[in-house]
Amino acid sequence: MKDFSAVEDVCGDAGPEAIFDTRFQLLGHELSNLKSSGQSELAIGDRKFLMSKIIVLMGAPGAGKGTQARLLQEHLNIPQISTGDMLRARAQEQDALAKEIQAVQASGKLASDDLVMRVVEERTAKEDSAHGYVLDGFPRTMAQAKMLEKLGAEQGHKIVAIVVDVPFELLEKRATGRLSCPVCGEIYNTYSKPPTNDKKCDFHPHTELVQRVDDTAEKVKIRLETYNEQTKPLIDGYDSTGRLHRIDGTKKQEEIHKEIEGIIRSNGFIGGH
Ligand SMILES: [Zn+2]
Repeated sequence: MKDFSAVEDVCGDAGPEAIFDTRFQLLGHELSNLKSSGQSELAIGDRKFLMSKIIVLMGAPGAGKGTQARLLQEHLNIPQISTGDMLRARAQEQDALAKEIQAVQASGKLASDDLVMRVVEERTAKEDSAHGYVLDGFPRTMAQAKMLEKLGAEQGHKIVAIVVDVPFELLEKRATGRLSCPVCGEIYNTYSKPPTNDKKCDFHPHTELVQRVDDTAEKVKIRLETYNEQTKPLIDGYDSTGRLHRIDGTKKQEEIHKEIEGIIRSNGFIGGH
């Protein structure tokens, strides 16, 4: 029965706010016709139904992507699937796959595309992902993107990519300006949230604030350049297939969230037209 709820009512009487909360049951054959026809929309009487979606959320380190993924999970009730968290959690279990992940972690190497894909596949097969899900940190490579296309087709989900765009200079400032108190852990930023007294914690006036070793200008630059090199082919790929949406990541978190929500809810982009 789970397949019946893989579509969402988009033109109900309940108003736009209820779009994602309203589930309609369809006859099984209508849904399988929809899936096999490759269309993303189905009209029954005066109601329209949309295919569920996989949201691929992209953004450079410090762009605020993690916050957006969490907001989506809270407001739209779509599970947020972060590859890093998922691998860490999966490694705690007691089976062959967990042992494989542990071995990779112990070696200090990156998990292979195949291993990450198996974990994503397993996680997204759970009931909570039946209406779609938000991917954070996946796909990272073209090989992973191709595997995701196949998985999306199998699961009957459309893929939509959203990039939270923040200019390089601002990302650099956000990261290099970050300071924290070694006593209480309070985070400051010399650009956006400076301490009252120069480099001293507001709560511990005798404690000098410290910078993380990863947040030096040099390391931040390498981090951002690596991100750009890695994701450019993916972004180009989604762009060329009309599935890419760019969001101005310099706006307030709530505004960014509203825009992302608009993209997910909007009818027009579905199916790329
Ligand atoms: Zn402190």
